[in-house]
Amino acid sequence: MRKATRGQDDARGLSERFSRTFLTLAAIVLSSLGAAIVTLVLVLASFGPHLDRLIDGRGGITVAHAGMLDQETGLRAYLETRNGIFLEPYVSGQSELIQGNQTVATDLADDATLAPLVLNMRLAQQQWISGWATSAAAIGQGDVMSSQQLTSTLEHGKVLFDAYRVTEDRLSAATTAEIIDAEDSQRTVVTIGLALALVVLAVGVIIALRQARGLRRAVIGPVNDLLETMTRVRSGDVDARPRGGGPRELRTVGEHLSRMIDELLRARAVSGELAERAGEQAARLRVILSLARDIAGSLSLRYVVRAVGTSSVAVSGFPRATVWLLDPAGRTLMPLHESTATGSDLSAGAAVELGEGAVGRAAAKGSAVAGDHGDDLTFDSEGGEAVTTLAVPMVVGARVVGVIELTAAKPVRLTRDVLDVIESLAGQAASAIEAARLHQQTEELSLTDALTHLPNRRRLDDDLAAEGARSRRYQRPLSFLMLDVDHFKRFNDTHGHQAGDTVLQELATALSDSLRETDTAYRYGGEEFAILLRETDRAAAEQVAERIRNRIQKRFAARVGIGSITASLGVASMPDDATTDTQLVAAADRALYVAKRAGRNRVSVLETAVATGS
Ligand code: GH3
Ligand code: MG
Ligand code: MG
Repeated sequence: MRKATRGQDDARGLSERFSRTFLTLAAIVLSSLGAAIVTLVLVLASFGPHLDRLIDGRGGITVAHAGMLDQETGLRAYLETRNGIFLEPYVSGQSELIQGNQTVATDLADDATLAPLVLNMRLAQQQWISGWATSAAAIGQGDVMSSQQLTSTLEHGKVLFDAYRVTEDRLSAATTAEIIDAEDSQRTVVTIGLALALVVLAVGVIIALRQARGLRRAVIGPVNDLLETMTRVRSGDVDARPRGGGPRELRTVGEHLSRMIDELLRARAVSGELAERAGEQAARLRVILSLARDIAGSLSLRYVVRAVGTSSVAVSGFPRATVWLLDPAGRTLMPLHESTATGSDLSAGAAVELGEGAVGRAAAKGSAVAGDHGDDLTFDSEGGEAVTTLAVPMVVGARVVGVIELTAAKPVRLTRDVLDVIESLAGQAASAIEAARLHQQTEELSLTDALTHLPNRRRLDDDLAAEGARSRRYQRPLSFLMLDVDHFKRFNDTHGHQAGDTVLQELATALSDSLRETDTAYRYGGEEFAILLRETDRAAAEQVAERIRNRIQKRFAARVGIGSITASLGVASMPDDATTDTQLVAAADRALYVAKRAGRNRVSVLETAVATGS
């Protein structure tokens, strides 16, 4: 029952509750005021006039009595002295009596209790007047009267007057008694009225107090609940919600608060996501920036291509990147380099024609495509497209120089943001590749490397062709060393490209110094050198390689401030490892790779037997 009432209370609004309390208070005040006014009106209306008439009537009795006394004393003195002056009080007493009696008749004759007494008094007056006063006043001044006669006349008058006095006393007493009665009644009514007003006031105050208490309970509980919720949310408890009780307004506030918390959480999640995405994008841009720095200084096509492959894997989220270059004729794409998330490898895969597969189509269209068939990317669905193959052309001006192919075994979610980054990377790569190619072309036109003054790769190709043929024809051993400076990128990063160039120059000198007349050192490209050892078998070549390695290490170890410079070397020989010059280079390259893998600053000879042509 009580619960139901509380429920109804809760259903009511705060303003309704306030106005209810206000109305209750107003009703109390008005009721008390009403009780007081009713009392006053009752008293004034019913007791007032009655009491006034009684009091007036009593005044009339007094006036009439004074008139009687004046007459009586005047007549007595006149009878005793026969002096006419004493008739004056008699005459004035007469009019006083008339006036007093008139008042008495008006005010008291209607009163049931007093009317007979009034009548009695008037009769007694009349008897005194007609039985004595009139005849006494008629006695002339000269009329002689014996003292006996006078005494008896006075005696007679006194008897009648005393009779009148008795009636006057009775009327007076009765009137006074009625006045006291009326006053008592008036007091009683006033007392009852006031008591009534007090009772109404007391009951009202109790009701008002209860209402105020209920209101406080209904408001303070829910308000505390709201405050507690806000405090909890502020201290990180995101599950906190108001319980939702209380009057309508506070429940609405609670609902709004809940909604606000929800929106806050949503906004927080969104901004967290945005921050995460911005962070990822910034990391990708950093990769591009560092790539740009890396390749800007390098004119080595192999190095540029390798750096592009590694950076593509880093920014794209694809585990494998292959860098394809379009031949100058613009018809065929060759895979130059492949990077995986764990490292990079040189691979000599098959060429593809322009327009063929994803790579061919990307090159033909000049824009990124996805999937094995090279479909266009639409980014229709939010959150990107899931693709396993992505081919992004490297474009310089309007010319496609190659394609970055990104592949994954499982689909990768590609967003517009990420594609933008890859495309910008491809743009950088395109310029660097173009520059490196031009450089290579110029280099190839000359036979000497500009930096080290060693014979260059073009010269090596010529020499290799000639020496290879000779070796085959005369069954003479020919060895080939491939040298690669260890961690040279790190060196460049630490000491600058200029210092790197100086090291390469010194290294070239060191190489030339350690070789016989019949041997030739070449700059193969970048920080890679090749050494052709004529008439040298594999065992001897290995010794030469070891000597070179040792020299380089010692030479730079003595230098202060540049840290250690070491090199790794791969050894290959004809006829042990190869039968053609291409095979010879490839075998030395593989051996070099093994040396690098084995920890660098070492010489490696392939343990395999004669290569069979692969
Ligand atoms: P590793 O031991 O695996 O060979 O590490 P690395 O850092 O030497 O390998 P990587 O091939 O990644 O780096 C080759 C570096 O050689 C990067 C490039 O800046 C630098 N380089 C290539 N050509 C030149 C050049 O002409 N001058 C200078 N100063 N540096 C060059
Ligand atoms: Mg290298
Ligand atoms: Mg190196």
